[in-house]
Amino acid sequence: MTRLFPRTLRTADELIAAGLAPEAARAGLEDVAAAYATAIPPAFAALIEHPDDPIGRQVIPDPAELLTTAAERSDPIGDEALSPVPGIVHRYADRVLLKPLLVCPLYCRFCFRREHVGPDGGLLDDAALDRAFEWLRAHPAIGEVVMTGGDPLMLSARRMDRIMRALEAIPHIQTIRIHTRVPVADPARVDAALLDALETDRAMWVVLHANHAREFTPEARAALRRIQSRAIPVIGQSVLLRGVNDTTETLEGLLRAMVAARVKPYYLHQLDPAPGTARFHVPIAEGRALLASLRGRVTGLAWPTYVLDIPGGHGKVPLGPEYLRDEGRAVLDPQGVRHEIGPTGEANLAEKPRTR
Ligand SMILES: *Cc1c(COP(=O)(O)O)cnc(C)c1O
Ligand code: SF4
Repeated sequence: MTRLFPRTLRTADELIAAGLAPEAARAGLEDVAAAYATAIPPAFAALIEHPDDPIGRQVIPDPAELLTTAAERSDPIGDEALSPVPGIVHRYADRVLLKPLLVCPLYCRFCFRREHVGPDGGLLDDAALDRAFEWLRAHPAIGEVVMTGGDPLMLSARRMDRIMRALEAIPHIQTIRIHTRVPVADPARVDAALLDALETDRAMWVVLHANHAREFTPEARAALRRIQSRAIPVIGQSVLLRGVNDTTETLEGLLRAMVAARVKPYYLHQLDPAPGTARFHVPIAEGRALLASLRGRVTGLAWPTYVLDIPGGHGKVPLGPEYLRDEGRAVLDPQGVRHEIGPTGEANLAEKPRTR
């Protein structure tokens, strides 16, 4: 298709006019739009050759999103219960999430925070930010702040600068991490002003979310290069997704594209059971077989850790023999407590939790 769209596509009208959805889908798309945000920025729209291809599937809304299965949850990984003040999520002793806004450059149809993210959502105002910084100052065990959202690189350079300077003023914060999709979704946002705001004497890391090799366009790679040229290492996280990266060829292509862009694959996430995401789910056994099929084929540099965020807020664990039990019917959390799970990692509704 490689047509150029000057603006981000958001409405059913715009999707239909762009040829990304049939006229007959209008009513269904409008119902989905009432429930979940949609945004397809020009950089992504230009990559869609067919609505059901690996790029289109990630961002084009589908009426199937309105069907919620029994195991799906609006807060699948239990962040809400772990939030001591707005914008902070505290699950691990030494690190926290800081969510300064809930805006993203595009809205992934499989997003684990899809009930919360959106274009008009969740910008922490100055008072809320100050409360978050106050909480961080009072918790000296926190050495790392993981900025996520939403997408922190959607902040203005000015606001990012304010956040960075406040974090730098807290002596015990040694590492600042930014989770983002902006370098692939809207590479032009990565400009000198934003990069200047990220300059710091602390360890700064960027974690890029990308799911298919085609996302690594020349513009995206140039944006990554601009980040790396500021001495910021970039590592990659991806979500294992049906129809996007669920074959040996597509997963290998993704991991190789990351390494070629000097991005070290960090995590391959098992998809969290957010509402209306069933069409993307890949069973854990299949995910493990897929990774096994890459052993020996790709450089060790390309190897991600395949992880599950255990439903209910129990934390992330690698999907390997040290944590899986009973042929994948249960998983141990970082404390060694056992949780029954279904084939795609969802909470097993039929069984009561037992201890190891
Ligand atoms: C994923 C996550 C982190 C970061 O975990 P790492 O394994 O260090 O990448 C931190 N806090 C919360 C609440 C998380 O969900
Ligand atoms: S970029 Fe992240 S937070 Fe934003 S819609 Fe995609 S998965 Fe959700």
